[in-house]
Amino acid sequence: MTDTILNLSASERERILAKSALFDPPGIALADGRRELVGLTREELAIEMAAIGEKPFRAKQLWHWIYHQGATDFSRMSSIARPLQERLAEHFVVGRPVIATQQTSVDDTHKFLFRFRDGQEAETVYIPDRFEDRGAVCISSQVGCTLSCRFCHTGTQKLARNLGAAEIVGQFMAARDAYGEWPSPRGDTPRLLSTIVLMGMGEPLYNYANVAKAMRIVMDGEGIALSRRRITLSTSGVVPMMDRAGDELGVNLAVSLHAVRDDLRDELVPLNRKYPIAELIAACRRYPAASNARRITFEYVMLKGVNDTEADAHELVRLIAGIPAKVNLIPFNPWPGSAYETSTRAAIDRFARIVMDAGFASPIRDPRGRDILAACGQLRTESQRVR
Ligand code: SAH
Ligand code: SF4
Repeated sequence: MTDTILNLSASERERILAKSALFDPPGIALADGRRELVGLTREELAIEMAAIGEKPFRAKQLWHWIYHQGATDFSRMSSIARPLQERLAEHFVVGRPVIATQQTSVDDTHKFLFRFRDGQEAETVYIPDRFEDRGAVCISSQVGCTLSCRFCHTGTQKLARNLGAAEIVGQFMAARDAYGEWPSPRGDTPRLLSTIVLMGMGEPLYNYANVAKAMRIVMDGEGIALSRRRITLSTSGVVPMMDRAGDELGVNLAVSLHAVRDDLRDELVPLNRKYPIAELIAACRRYPAASNARRITFEYVMLKGVNDTEADAHELVRLIAGIPAKVNLIPFNPWPGSAYETSTRAAIDRFARIVMDAGFASPIRDPRGRDILAACGQLRTESQRVR
């Protein structure tokens, strides 16, 4: 029985990977023939060096300049002799997504609209902590989303395409440029841009290969060197890929639960019809990176009169009993045309109390950047599928 399930999910995994390849981002070659170095693995970088007759140690040197120093200009790479700097510039670029527009909220949340090489656009949000000098960068994984959760603005935008590894890590690098945060510190010295949450546009586990590649780059100790503890991946519940992300990346997991009964979750998060609550919770129970020190976050959007009763709260704690978890209650963030209302504060408090009494932390998420449509679930761009 277990074997059958494992086999099934393996083939399902292949199917998901093959399907997402249809939405591939542009390759690394630019129109002028030069090649993008951001987003390559160390091995791929060494292959690019070999292609111009350079030794593998050049890849290590470049890695340091690109990901530790944040250099985009070969002439700044002072450990490389001038003639080689010039040759590198003939063959390669170290690019960034371009800031098409940016806005700052009254609460200092900052939203970037990034434009990529083919003109597609996605949003990235920097959310500074209210009390300390640090913050989270909320990164997009896709332009649009194939899923259409009823309460989510991104879900009203059809998937235009997946973002490539260069574009995913590039959002973080461009945000660091904007905040003047290079070079990367040695060790764990605090920075403003100190954590990554994969909670922007798109479903990261439907673009797993690119997300994984980008996160490996971000975690590499000789570059940006962000610990896996400082990265949280949020999924609407792509069960077969959750196992893989846990095994291979070991980042923190956030799961968009939002309902405790299949009939309601089928409606709010249509992916539930494929991976119902029982399967989703089972995948959380076996998520390898979860422990008391690193709990799974269950995200629960509070929708007035829809999922916010005391009975819902009791059922929630029954479902997640025994999982090292916390429950993040997210007051619904409205967007133009949205069909829901935010639960009353009293209903949210009541819900939080029940969850807390059962032994789970249940923070109520402070809505940030609502005035500039930068809060959870408010992101959307005009980009459409071109091919
Ligand atoms: N696709 C992934 C990550 C992006 S969404 C996912 O669904 O998990 C990040 C979080 O914002 C998710 O928990 C999502 O359900 C929530 N969200 C979406 N729309 C929202 C809205 N209008 N108000 C509050 N939270 C919302
Ligand atoms: Fe996609 Fe997540 Fe929005 Fe659902 S909540 S539509 S999975 S981005």
